[in-house]
Amino acid sequence: MMAATPLEHRPLGNTGLKLSCVGFGASPLGNVFGVVSESDAIATVRRAFSLGINFFDTSPYYGATLSEKMLGKALKALGVPRNEYIVSTKCGRYKEGFDFSAERVTRSIDESLERLQLDYVDILQCHDIEFGSLDQIVTETIPALLKLKEAGKVKFIGITGLPLGIFSYVLDRVPPGTVDVILSYCHYGINDSTLEDLLPYLKSKGVGIISASPLAMGLLTESGPPEWHPAPPELKAACQAAAAYCKEKGKNVSKLAMQYSLSNKDISTILVGMNSVKQVDENVAAAIELATVGKDEKTLSEIEGILKPVKNQIWPSGIQQS
Ligand code: NAD
Repeated sequence: MMAATPLEHRPLGNTGLKLSCVGFGASPLGNVFGVVSESDAIATVRRAFSLGINFFDTSPYYGATLSEKMLGKALKALGVPRNEYIVSTKCGRYKEGFDFSAERVTRSIDESLERLQLDYVDILQCHDIEFGSLDQIVTETIPALLKLKEAGKVKFIGITGLPLGIFSYVLDRVPPGTVDVILSYCHYGINDSTLEDLLPYLKSKGVGIISASPLAMGLLTESGPPEWHPAPPELKAACQAAAAYCKEKGKNVSKLAMQYSLSNKDISTILVGMNSVKQVDENVAAAIELATVGKDEKTLSEIEGILKPVKNQIWPSGIQQS
């Protein structure tokens, strides 16, 4: 199915890394969206790598460490040199709860490296910092991560979370170049594109920009979101109406959503969660089609019309909204 056009790779801020524009979100390998067998996980990662995906994101939180273990096995099974893929994991969020203390995140990286069967990760990110004290992130967590960088366990440092204000809060309080990347999710897709307003600021800070969840964690799929999805009912209903409309027209809402998110080249990579070879094929094909043919502007604007009443609607996350 692969056309001659290769999957685009984009620079990640000032890191020197070049990430495939479609990134592999490994939370589904922790059975977050349904059970995935080990052989399917390995085949999915293999397919992704063979189609040019070089960026893989996980966390100890996903499936209570299962995602890291599965991703580690799958990457090892590739049998390729370590510098051919880029791995990010996270710290501070666990099945047991949140702990952004220096002691916990320092221990966390050793546990993650063991599960991933790696000597280092390319990126270590503080996971969902709106659930902790942002001042602790600035004064304690990031300094601890800098020590891990010096020790060679981590190449670059990042922060992740849902409310967009957390990023400027932290970036305004750390020396330039301290935080290398930010990971935002559910804020650069057809139903919510509010990350756009923050892009000039993030670029001025020189940070790499990762945008996750182009399918809004399953809202923009034909099969719909998982049971635990936090969206309010009207947002769920509007997204399902959009998906049904696409289906009726012989179109696929997930493809349109991928192409919408991939269109902005200021964003280095669009992290999409995948648990099958089919999904990898579809999402890579969406990127290649965008690069070669362009987007289906007509259907996209029809979908934007359906989603207009819920545009930029989001759910609460964390203990502080900044
Ligand atoms: P997503 O929007 O990528 O949606 C994933 C869901 O869509 C899964 O059920 C997947 O099986 C399905 N899917 C994927 N491709 C499809 C296709 N072509 N057709 C139909 N369905 C398809 O949401 P996500 O997985 O939550 O986000 C992507 C990744 O980003 C995560 O796996 C994780 O690595 C990262 N992420 C990080 C944070 C954070 O740090 N706080 C938050 C959200 C996501």
